[in-house]
Amino acid sequence: MLHFSSLELCGPIRDAIAHAGYDTPTPIQAQAIPPVLAGRDLLGCAQTGTGKTAAFALPILHRLHIAPADKKRRGPVKPRALVLSPTRELASQIDESFGTYGQCTGLRHTVIFGGVSQFHQVRQLHRGVDILVATPGRLIDLMEQGHVDLRNIEVFVLDEADRMLDMGFIHPIRRIAAALPVQRQTLLFSATMPRNIMHLADSLLHNPVKVAVTPTPSTTPCIEQSIYMVRREAKPALMEHLLAQRAVKRALVFTRTKYGADKLTRRLTRAGVMATAIHGNKSQNQRRHALESFRSGRSRVLVATDVAARGLHVEGITHVFNFDLPREPEAYVHRIGRTGRAGATGIAISLCDRDERVHLRAIEQLTGTRLETMSEPPAIQVNPRPDKRHADRPRQDRPSKSTRGASSGPARAGTRSNAPANGSQRRARKAGSRPAGARAGRRCANRSKRIRRSPA
Ligand code: AMP
Repeated sequence: MLHFSSLELCGPIRDAIAHAGYDTPTPIQAQAIPPVLAGRDLLGCAQTGTGKTAAFALPILHRLHIAPADKKRRGPVKPRALVLSPTRELASQIDESFGTYGQCTGLRHTVIFGGVSQFHQVRQLHRGVDILVATPGRLIDLMEQGHVDLRNIEVFVLDEADRMLDMGFIHPIRRIAAALPVQRQTLLFSATMPRNIMHLADSLLHNPVKVAVTPTPSTTPCIEQSIYMVRREAKPALMEHLLAQRAVKRALVFTRTKYGADKLTRRLTRAGVMATAIHGNKSQNQRRHALESFRSGRSRVLVATDVAARGLHVEGITHVFNFDLPREPEAYVHRIGRTGRAGATGIAISLCDRDERVHLRAIEQLTGTRLETMSEPPAIQVNPRPDKRHADRPRQDRPSKSTRGASSGPARAGTRSNAPANGSQRRARKAGSRPAGARAGRRCANRSKRIRRSPA
């Protein structure tokens, strides 16, 4: 197995890696670091969680450390490496990583992003930095005001490029790229490689080395996944019901829209669930507060949109709920990867209404996993009539005849089909010895499908 010592990184960086407790490079690091050290452009297909930050940060730090800026030149140091990131959270985390990996190099780094006063950011820039991490909007603002000079940039990194394009940053990216020296090294990372990313890569990269680390069902830890086929109007009640289970210690709930995140958070709070929302309309302070509250355990539930959850690393998330299914199947893998980290088992539960089935199919195709379909617990049914719309979705583990109906023992009490129940089945379920929540919880824990996530 490859070890960091074989990567020819300079001493101060090797020390910092050892200090961080890293032993061996992750696959993306093993593939990316050697060509980046050799000065090649790179096109990397990798998600957050694969160790991609170190894959670009370590060789950048090495390069800047072994060839320091001209000390005799007067005035503050101008940035020599620029990392563009789509969100403030991710930008902050990247900047922190530069701090961790570069702690023994003496190189200066800072992060700039919108939503906060520019005062301290401008002061840092005027003091001089070697490495600048930025979100595109604030960078353009500060460039226009003459606070940033990008003429000395040697390495340019575009992180989560697909997300940046989704967020409409293509023009800012092109403007920023136009302000950089033509002679430079460019590294582009993206979780997905749709056509618009390939076009962008073609225009920015020169003969790049291509590396890919795809999270597939054949890589490490376990995430138990299941899905509830549920009517849209029943989702909030089901969500409340699922969150009430004792096994749910720390949960991340994804909604599709900011409005949806706020609405669900209000409802959960009214129901006594300690929940906070995090999304793009929240100020930086509100986001930080929400994250702190979630990290410290004051809020057990964080309701987030995809954009806000990018780069979010919180230890000990036991459950990820998809209140809405994501429109891109890759986002599903990314979302559920927030749980089951560091070898722990995580649970991912999704709620899917009729209109979202197309997204469910795409997810199952991408992950190669057929999610186990759970039934709506009777306690939360908004409309107790059986839902014929979902009757055509076959169950994965249809109970045997002997376990159906009133005679089913506690071990199989929750096992039932999504197909319309007959009268005696319904009565039997209502009279079941376990509460619906316990049944659902047990099934989640015991029999949900597992997929594997990439290491790191
Ligand atoms: P990233 O994908 O860069 O956000 O990294 C995900 C997590 O993996 C971070 O918490 C890193 O500290 C951690 N990590 C990165 N590289 C390694 C490594 N080689 N060994 C162990 N952990 C790592």
